[in-house]
Parts: sequence; structure tokens; C-alpha cells
Amino acid sequence: RDLKHIWHPCSQMKDYETLKPIVIDRGEGVHLYDIYGKEYIDIVSSWWCNLLGHCNPEINGAVKSQLDRLEHVIFSNFTHEPAIKLCEELVKVIPAGLTRFNFSDNGSAAVECALKMSFQYQYQTGHPKRQRFMCLSEGYHGETIGALSVGSMDLYARIYKPMLMDTIQIKAPDCYRCQAECFAEAETAFERYGKETCAIIVEPLLQGSAGMRIYPPVYLQKLRKLCDESGILLIADEIATGFGRTGKMFAFEHAGGSPDIMCISKGLTGGYMPMAITITTEQIYEAFYADYNEGKAFMHSHTYSGNPLGCSAGLAVLSILQKDRVLEKAEKRAAFLTEKLAERLGSHPHVGEIRHIGLIHALELVEDKASKKGYPPEERVGYQVYKKALERGLILRPLGNVLYFNPP
Ligand SMILES: *Cc1c(COP(=O)(O)O)cnc(C)c1O
Repeated sequence: RDLKHIWHPCSQMKDYETLKPIVIDRGEGVHLYDIYGKEYIDIVSSWWCNLLGHCNPEINGAVKSQLDRLEHVIFSNFTHEPAIKLCEELVKVIPAGLTRFNFSDNGSAAVECALKMSFQYQYQTGHPKRQRFMCLSEGYHGETIGALSVGSMDLYARIYKPMLMDTIQIKAPDCYRCQAECFAEAETAFERYGKETCAIIVEPLLQGSAGMRIYPPVYLQKLRKLCDESGILLIADEIATGFGRTGKMFAFEHAGGSPDIMCISKGLTGGYMPMAITITTEQIYEAFYADYNEGKAFMHSHTYSGNPLGCSAGLAVLSILQKDRVLEKAEKRAAFLTEKLAERLGSHPHVGEIRHIGLIHALELVEDKASKKGYPPEERVGYQVYKKALERGLILRPLGNVLYFNPP
């Protein structure tokens, strides 16, 4: 019945002829159970969003009690306690200076919001010629048109190129296949395009969809400095890295300082409700604050902005993270996982690199370890491993030849 109607995300539907979608009946903690009772370990956190396990009793309780009070209300001219409280709690744990919250309902939407916000900020502060965006190669920021434009993974963007904005791509750090001092690429781009650029968007420290590529905090520190010198805004897409995934509450903390705009989603509600927030500084907020007839307002909205159920889930998540000292525990578990992976797979002839940040661990499979030559994409090595793992009750979602664990 599923295949009669449902067009699954990011799938070649023909693949389902040989491997049918698995019908999941229920979840508990790190486990999912299909309708035949088979147990799976959800090691990919259901697309990286499940933070504290499936059907977490505390989050369930929070959402249920909110449900009986208020399910949704228009967020223009109206507000509610869960949204206010959520912002108050988030302010305590996000990088300093980020104090203004604009709600949406998915990661791509939060990125679109950040792009428009930075564009309008430049326009309203005397820099109307700053109209372009910079981004890193292999970056991923979602799949709507603006988000795709600042992403640079051909897999998702190639066909749509004629529809996309003309962005400036900077070659991203690639530490596994490091060739040169990579920050020079950013410096050159800032020299050439600095005056026409509105903002640069990056995934701090971890380029997730690129294959869990990790780069050092010093890159972000240098980028922050370049942005300050050139008047370009720095947008941190913490959609995948936020809420402890990299060992700190937000990846930007590894570098110190703050971005000008930060996008969060995924872990925000523990993977319960579609919710995202674009957070910014007083300075940027002030540029929009004026008498109505000056036309400076940010005319941007989503029907489900500030959804109360999402906010109540978000509040429960923050409370659990603190109360149960989740980050501390994750650090110990990460060390254990690092050790076990090195022990079992470190010397495997086709495991080129095992990299990790926080609890996220990735294995890059290569045809030849010495030359770091990858498998040809047509062989779909990751997909073959995926199918084997599934038989044994482990849910992976390989990124090309990269297998990763990103558990709740
Ligand atoms: C998932 C993701 C997005 C997009 O979020 P959606 O909710 O899928 O639209 C954007 N940026 C990063 C870094 C992500 O991992």
C-alpha cells in the first residue's frame, strides 16, 4: 500500500522493488520495532534529529500535557508561555550575544530565513550592494531553493543550477585528504568578493552530509576575524551540530566567540516536532526596528512558527540535557566507541579513516588505503553495507562511501 502512493524522500523509488520500505510500528529508546516485531538499533537518530531516544517518557509527557492546553496559535500578535520560556532557556546555553529568535518549522526554512535576514540587514544599514552569499564546497544547508544555492553538493543541486542563486564557493577544508593550507582559499575569496558579499554560511566544524568531514576550530576563528574586518555576516548552520552532537552544546563553542546568525532545528525538539529557529543579535534586530511606515519590518512568516507542541518538546529536551548531564555521559560513551572502532576496524584494509567529533563517528571506506582512493560511486558500497547491516538489525544511512554512527 505504501508503494502505491508514497514518494519517499531522497530515494530512487525503483530501489524499493528489491528492498521494500520497512514498516515501523513503535520505538523505544535507541530501538525501533517493525510490524513483525524485529528490533533495530537506530544508530542514525532517525535522520540525526532524535536526541534522547524514541518515545522518551519525559518528552512524551511534556507534549501530551501541552496538547490538552493549546495545540497551535497564530504567532503574529499572539504568543504563549512555552515559546517565551524556550527562548529564555536557550539564551542560557547558546553562544553569547544571540538573543533574538525567529521561529520556523524545518531546517531549510531556518536557513532561508537567515539568508533573507542578512540580506535585508545589509540593505537597511547602507550596504545595498552586498547581495551575494559565500559558502563552503561540500556544504549542505537544506533543499529549498535558497538553501540549495548556498549548499554545494552536486548530488542535490546539479539539475537545479539554472534555478539557483549565483553564490561564491570557497574550497572547504578536507583534513583526510589535506593538500595545502586551506584557509588561503577563504582569504582569496574575501579579497575578491568581500565588497559584494552579504554573508557567509558554514556548518561549524562538521560538514555532515559531505560525509561527516571534520575541520578544526581555528578555521572558524579565522573566519570570524575575516568577517569582522570585512562587514560580512557569519551564519552558523548548527542544525546538525547543535544540542551536544559535537561534545559541546553548540559546535561554535569549540572556537569561542559567536556567529551573527545561528540556525537550529533537528535536535531542538529531540526529533519530536518539526521546528527550527533562526537566532540573531541585538545589532541585527535593531536594523529592522522602526516605525511601521519606514517599511523595515522582516516580512517573513510560516504558518507553524512557534508551534506550542514543538516548544514544549524543546523545553523538555533542555531540561533532560541538564538534569541527566547528558553531555558528560556522551563524552564517556564517545571515548568507548572510539576505542572499540579502532580495535575492531582500525586496521581493516578498506577503512581509510575513522574520524569522530563528540559521539558522532564516521568510517570512510576506500578501495585503496595507501592512495586513499575511494570506491567508484556506481558500486554503491555504502548501500551494500546498509543492506547487510539492516539484516542484522542496525539502521545505517551511509553518505556515499562513508558509514557513520550518530546515535541518540
Ligand atoms: C538537515 C540539515 C538541514 C536541513 O534541515 P531540514 O529540516 O531537512 O530542511 C540544513 N542544514 C544542515 C546542516 C542539516 O543537517
